[in-house]
Amino acid sequence: SESAKNHPPARKTYRLYQDMGQPVEERVKDLLSRMTLAEKIGQMTQTERSVTNHTNIRDFGIGSILSGGGSGPVENATVLQWGNMTNYFQKAAMNTRLAIPLIYGIDAVHGNNNIYGATIFPHNVGLGCTRDPELVERIGSATALECRATGIQYAFAPCIAVCRDPRWGRCYESYSEDPEIVRDMTSLIDGLQGRAPAGWDGPYVEDSDKVAACAKHFVGDGGTTRGLNGNNTQVSYRELVNIHMKAYKDAVRKGVATVMASYSSWNGVKMHANKFLLTRVLKKELGFKGFIISDYMGIDLITDPPGANYTYSVYAGIHAGLDMIMVPFAYEQFIGNLTQMVKSGAIPMSRINDAVTRILRVKFQMGLFESPYSDTKLVKTVGQESHRELSREAVRKSLVLLKNGKTPLTPLLPLNRNAKRILVTGSHASNIGLQCGGWTIKWQGKSGDITPGTTVLEGIQQAVSPDTEVVYAEKPGKGLFENLGFDYAIVVVGEPPYAETHGDNLNLTIPLNGPHAITHTCRRVRCVVVLMSGRPLVVAPLLHQMDALVAAWLPGTEAGLGIADVLFGSYDFTGKLARTWFRSVDQLPMNVGDKHYHPLFPFGYGLTMGLNNSRYIVLLVVLFLHM
Ligand code: BGC
Repeated sequence: SESAKNHPPARKTYRLYQDMGQPVEERVKDLLSRMTLAEKIGQMTQTERSVTNHTNIRDFGIGSILSGGGSGPVENATVLQWGNMTNYFQKAAMNTRLAIPLIYGIDAVHGNNNIYGATIFPHNVGLGCTRDPELVERIGSATALECRATGIQYAFAPCIAVCRDPRWGRCYESYSEDPEIVRDMTSLIDGLQGRAPAGWDGPYVEDSDKVAACAKHFVGDGGTTRGLNGNNTQVSYRELVNIHMKAYKDAVRKGVATVMASYSSWNGVKMHANKFLLTRVLKKELGFKGFIISDYMGIDLITDPPGANYTYSVYAGIHAGLDMIMVPFAYEQFIGNLTQMVKSGAIPMSRINDAVTRILRVKFQMGLFESPYSDTKLVKTVGQESHRELSREAVRKSLVLLKNGKTPLTPLLPLNRNAKRILVTGSHASNIGLQCGGWTIKWQGKSGDITPGTTVLEGIQQAVSPDTEVVYAEKPGKGLFENLGFDYAIVVVGEPPYAETHGDNLNLTIPLNGPHAITHTCRRVRCVVVLMSGRPLVVAPLLHQMDALVAAWLPGTEAGLGIADVLFGSYDFTGKLARTWFRSVDQLPMNVGDKHYHPLFPFGYGLTMGLNNSRYIVLLVVLFLHM
């Protein structure tokens, strides 16, 4: 009617928690006081994208969603499709009674690696070799932008595991065997979240182009026996603190918003049920004020005492100090069980309030109530040139030169750009998927043309003179060497992609016929071997055949350009091993500082080509001739 039309719109009732002028802690208190038990438990629940929809967000007040293993709305979803999907879920959350925004989490562990076309940076194992925390911080900033462009506000990174045994399938997610290098690389948190002002206490996410970070996996994930994923870490408390916990202090000081519990156990007790470490040490002693998230179905693994059922697992996990549970499928059962236990008094309301306070603190502090949706202005940042340049720089700095020349007087590197004919060969020479490793597009990664980037073959083709003929053969087959007369060969071999337990490996030989490619080629022509792997592999028996050996780790989409930059001498090698390179697997575990330390290449090793020195020598010779 006319009168209704002329009526001024109803003033929204003032709710303190929606007033961004109020301090975060006041907003948290106000909102908490308005919430029902069901709404509180909903906030503590993180569900998998595939089981989440408008109805269960409305009915259960779900507080968080994840795309486990990077699963998107459809295969190879575009940035816009991701943004639409996250906004779709967020709209449902913003329509609930109290309009509490969701936080959407994803494993953006080397760039926003789940998005087709995103910039893929080297995995942490390579970044550790750069010894360059500032570079890692810039990678964090780029990753935050590429996440926010898709509506994702939460990255399950950095992994600050201290991998003490390369047989572990997650070794490549670790920056180093050395706790201090790992600690230095918590600079990724500064990049993902923004730098917390001096003296800041609590979670800190600077702005709506930043993401909440997650230090994982607390604690001792990299110290399990024989590197078995999720197994038992048998060490003294002192060793746990000095090796595995060192970086957490810094992560907390930097205002890391969240910490993820580890699947592993410490001296037989599952981390997900370890009240001493989660509550007493992390929350009280280290003063962590963000929220602790469980790992994927992590509470299901709480099986002690033997015969424990799911209800007991929920009890033990919440009681130990977990705040948000990555359920991620059986949410009705989880919510039902937890509700019952609060009603019966088995879990005190104060524990629920602590958990929800921490979750809301992060959501308010990061401005999620004000900016809940994806920012379409950021779409163009995904895979943008400046990010690819940054990744290329990271590749250059992560390469470690392990050998150059069969004798000191016969170096092969830097390679000659003007050679007449060169050979590029090996499983990894022309394959974007293999150079990216696990956690790329798919959880386990994938071989082939999985996302745009530059292969090593392409990088070399761009670097050599127009007159150089580049011959490529994935496998150096029989007739290849007849009558061709190669000046030299570049052999690119390594590991196929893998993630988590799938990568546990007790023999660590070069797979995919790598040794054959090396032997067959290096016997006939001078060769540089570029090894792409998530960890040191067995190379000792092959080393004498190679003229040069470069550890390239898992370099990502810009590998071809970054590797060519260095092989052809536009830049020198600067990377130094952040891991000990063993001679044979029966030496493992072997880490720097061990009593019996006889590695093939020690921690910190890394040659240069002496580009600067040789220029200096040329200069001296020229001066001498003029005298
Ligand atoms: C891994 C975590 C990861 C989570 C979510 C788990 O299997 O251990 O590192 O963040 O899945 O994808």
